[in-house]
Amino acid sequence: MTKKIAILPGDGIGQEIVAEAVKVLEVLRDDFGLSIEMEDGLVGGAAYDATGTPLPEATLALAKAADAVLLGAVGGYKWESLPIAVRPEKGLLGLRAELGLFANLRPAILYPQLASASTLKPEVVSGLDIMIVRELTGGIYFGQPRGIRVLENGERQGYNTLVYKESEVSRIGKVAFDIAMKRNKRVCSVDKANVLECTEMWREVMIEEAKAYPEIQLSHMYVDNASMQLVRAPKQFDVMVTTNMFGDILSDCAAMLTGSIGMLPSASLDANSKGMYEPIHGSAPDIAGKDLANPLATILSVAMMLRYTLDAPEMAERIEAAVNKVLDEGVRTGDIWTEGCTKVGTAGMGDAVVAAMRA
Ligand code: NAD
Repeated sequence: MTKKIAILPGDGIGQEIVAEAVKVLEVLRDDFGLSIEMEDGLVGGAAYDATGTPLPEATLALAKAADAVLLGAVGGYKWESLPIAVRPEKGLLGLRAELGLFANLRPAILYPQLASASTLKPEVVSGLDIMIVRELTGGIYFGQPRGIRVLENGERQGYNTLVYKESEVSRIGKVAFDIAMKRNKRVCSVDKANVLECTEMWREVMIEEAKAYPEIQLSHMYVDNASMQLVRAPKQFDVMVTTNMFGDILSDCAAMLTGSIGMLPSASLDANSKGMYEPIHGSAPDIAGKDLANPLATILSVAMMLRYTLDAPEMAERIEAAVNKVLDEGVRTGDIWTEGCTKVGTAGMGDAVVAAMRA
């Protein structure tokens, strides 16, 4: 059956990097028989300029009707002084909420060819391949009550609420265990069960959920130790699963182990593995329109789409092998360039990947 992909380039470099990812999808469609239809939509600042809202009804309808969404990035200087309700970022948050994307998958993979780009010693990070599974629609970022109140003595007090229902924990646990089954079958659940009752329950539910996965080796780690272990010996991890806030912090830390923001893809999935796929970086207005952006994070997001939503792992491998080949050949955009390599622009990198896929 033909799968529908909503293409939402967004703002800044989003336009350029998504164009290269679309080239890759076209090759898979035209040369390798991937049955897809693509349709473009507006989101973020570009949508605000055209329609007065960062998430037009038409875009939401397109995203809801699609099997998967490919997003570039949103935001930029031009829209920074707009009221919060119509800022470009609202378009992205609206899509996540409306599509029920509760599971955020962020792989941190270090390509051996780029080991010297990390701030950590090459022997600590080379071969790194971690998958962080972050709960995305619950926890302290959404818990009620929240706010800033004035106490009787006139002092202000800020408060937020960390809440998780068992069902929210078990569904993110299931996502992590299913992913680990396709990897090295090890899951580390990160919590603060020694201090927070909510995550004490998180741990209990994880243990219960793991019973359905006898092959999985489940371990638990307090978040303070996990952050230390991520920079001390990151290769000990296979899949990490954690709450919204802990995942927010740990996934940025893990991303930086690889040293290159332009290389990292991500996926946000709903209960039926429908997903929105996007690079982890933003719209990089400082380099937008200059053919300088690295499109590989977006191209690798397409590989994740093929693996997690379109159920075409062999096509995902074709993309990943092509990226590896291009890096082996020393082709680099400016952000990952080192002496002796061939520097190319955004389109040049996309063309190199396409050529490697066809080779
Ligand atoms: P950014 O990720 O856009 O850029 C940070 C730095 O990394 C910049 O120097 C940029 O040039 C560089 N960079 C980013 N992607 C790159 C790529 N593919 N190739 C080469 N270099 C790259 O973060 P920022 O500057 O803090 O934010 C810029 C705008 O993006 C803001 O409006 C912000 O709100 C928005 N933003 C959007 C998202 C998203 O859409 N998911 C995420 C983060 C930030």
